[in-house]
Amino acid sequence: MFDEKYKFTCVDRFLKYVKYDTQSDEDSTSFPSTEKQKILLKDLADELKAMGVEDAHMDEWGYVMGTIPANTNKDVPAIGFISHVDTSPAVSGANVNPQIHKNYQGGDIQLINDPNQVIKAEDNPDLKDMIGYDIITTDGTTLLGADNKAGVAEIMDAVNYLLTHPEVKHGAVKICFTPDEEVGRGTEKFDVEKFGAKYAYTVDGQTRGEVEYESFSADGVVIKIHGKNIHPGYAKGKMVNAIKVAAALIESLPKNSLSPETTENREGYVHCNSINGMEELTTLKFIIRDFVTAKLREHEDLLRDLTQKAVDKFPGARFEFEVIEQYRNMREVLDQHPQVIEFAQEAMKRLNIKPISRPIRGGTDGSRLSFMGLPTPNIFAGEHSYHSKLEWVAIQDMEMAVKVIVEICKIWAEKS
Ligand SMILES: [Zn+2]
Repeated sequence: MFDEKYKFTCVDRFLKYVKYDTQSDEDSTSFPSTEKQKILLKDLADELKAMGVEDAHMDEWGYVMGTIPANTNKDVPAIGFISHVDTSPAVSGANVNPQIHKNYQGGDIQLINDPNQVIKAEDNPDLKDMIGYDIITTDGTTLLGADNKAGVAEIMDAVNYLLTHPEVKHGAVKICFTPDEEVGRGTEKFDVEKFGAKYAYTVDGQTRGEVEYESFSADGVVIKIHGKNIHPGYAKGKMVNAIKVAAALIESLPKNSLSPETTENREGYVHCNSINGMEELTTLKFIIRDFVTAKLREHEDLLRDLTQKAVDKFPGARFEFEVIEQYRNMREVLDQHPQVIEFAQEAMKRLNIKPISRPIRGGTDGSRLSFMGLPTPNIFAGEHSYHSKLEWVAIQDMEMAVKVIVEICKIWAEKS
């Protein structure tokens, strides 16, 4: 299906993009969170234009959008492909020095510039399916940025393929590269209407064959416990220590269930991820997660109840309880558009890839986009052990992802 020249292109693109430092910043309030993301985004817009995507451009926020016009008269809905360019704030993405381990033969992979950094086969079950593959890693000092530059390279290469193979019939194909996914703001300035796709796919999944269409539903809860402060030397009968109320609340949380460390698969949780305070005021932040949106309410009611009980033990204390909606399980939207999933699965089957669908114990930009009117499941890009120095991606998985993108475009045209 693809010639040798094509084969090297996707990897070349990837190796070029990982050289850009595009780390996003959780503490920044600007958009994008870091200006440097725009350097790669601008270059991607230029590259798209040079390939023949005439309307490609970067907007004021850094979003790159472009269209490959339909080359069939059939009435095919416009399909989008989306990747993010930013890398995780957790590990440096500057001076990435990618290493290619050709023809992997099993076992651990030692990274060259840090003896402590070893990609262990036992921690990476997908490695057993990589025998004979060429694996790209870091040198052990930075992350790789395959999350999500593998997706960026794959989409770019698929664009190149479609534009150089007019015999492949497709509807309008919309491309978008976004900033700030890693800091949860990737869709903040996303203009769904301007993008113009009816359905889309984020190309940001891990294992070959992944089609993910179910994410957590998520709320945040902020609890403010008000105590009463007074000079501790003269506090008898007067002080109410908000810190102790907070401790009582934490101690009363379920011990063997409903926490990140005791749940898996489809189980939800109530998780305290920040506590900050003094005698007068202590603020606790929680994240509430479940695959069933209605259950968020149950978890929140439990938390409110436990807070009330803790406060009741300390006469004079009181609390405020605020629930903040974060995102919702995209399956609620995607169930109404089953063909979006089916066509991705069909594309993989045609390429002899077994489709895998696991619920995502987190959210994706697609969760938010789906509720913004753009149903958007996530397909694999091949990135593994992301947000770490042990990140890796197999070249053959990236090539497969390019073929999947092209095949999805073909199937939408075929079945419309
Ligand atoms: Zn990602």
